[in-house]
Amino acid sequence: DRLVTAQGNNDEERVDRAIRPKRLKDYVGQKELREQMEIFIQAAVTRSEALDHVLIFGPPGLGKTTLANIVAAEMNVNIRQTSGPVLDKAGDLAALLTNLQAHDVLFIDEIHRLSPAVEEVLYPAMEDYQIDIIIGEGPAARSIKLDLPPFTLIGATTRAGLLTSPLRDRFGIVQRLEFYTVDELASIVSRSAKMLDIGMDSGGADEIACRSRGTPRIANRLLRRVRDFAEVKGNGTVTREIAKQALDMLKIDQQGFDMLDRKLLIAMIEHFQGGPVGLDTLAAVISEERGTVEDVLEPYLLQQGFIMRTPRGRVVTHKAYSHFGLPAPKQQLG
Ligand code: ADP
Repeated sequence: DRLVTAQGNNDEERVDRAIRPKRLKDYVGQKELREQMEIFIQAAVTRSEALDHVLIFGPPGLGKTTLANIVAAEMNVNIRQTSGPVLDKAGDLAALLTNLQAHDVLFIDEIHRLSPAVEEVLYPAMEDYQIDIIIGEGPAARSIKLDLPPFTLIGATTRAGLLTSPLRDRFGIVQRLEFYTVDELASIVSRSAKMLDIGMDSGGADEIACRSRGTPRIANRLLRRVRDFAEVKGNGTVTREIAKQALDMLKIDQQGFDMLDRKLLIAMIEHFQGGPVGLDTLAAVISEERGTVEDVLEPYLLQQGFIMRTPRGRVVTHKAYSHFGLPAPKQQLG
């Protein structure tokens, strides 16, 4: 399994629950988003209304689920959580919706993966707090309207463009999560280390932060692996040197790239002279799914300026060549 994957796993859930920030004030970074959400939440609370529906988009591991839970906590309401692929029947969604209490949050992760039939139920629910339920079958079937309590839908997705426009248009608040800076990640791992009772100095925090691809979930995971190393090879304290040694051993380089990132960049350089190369071709060459390349690998490489999107496909930049100590071709785009 990929160490720097931003996808969570069951093992991590338990630790995660302990270190996940619970209130807006503990949510590191994303300053604008935090300021805006604070105002929206306060206004809704003052008016005793449900918060407007919120769409959160951004690559995996950046804090979408955390933010949804924080919104519910700040609103002082319950949160129900589900995900697009799990909700495969309109009836399942109807059951969830009718069990909500006034102002509750319904969080749907991977909302772009809802089936069209389920999405249809969501439209009137979001707009008018109503659902149409079909009772019976064939000619005897009839539809009845049910009123729902005012609630807040929070949808999460990796890219806003994946949503159908009728769905996207029904969100009053749309927030995009950005990759975190090294300083922000260092403050996240320092906080986690404290909560998990791990000794770490600021050099250790910085080294982990630099190699976490801008992603809190990865930073927290690397912290745990480095802690193992510190306990076995050192005196238990995470220092810069210990973190360096541990992460080098785990083959996570200075940029936070692992084998897969390097494989992708090298493939572009060696097989396609730096590009342009189409996403499907690229995915096939490195034996990954297109979705993995698009949602997991590419966003960070793009943000860091190692690859660029062009109308004819992806191209690597000078930065990628120099990362591998290779001379860049003269006519290179980047
Ligand atoms: P997503 O839902 O976007 O995949 P999560 O909300 O599950 O990401 O975040 C992954 C983990 O990263 C969380 O459990 C939390 O510990 C940490 N995390 C995410 N965002 C922040 C943040 N802004 N501040 C501190 N920790 C964060």
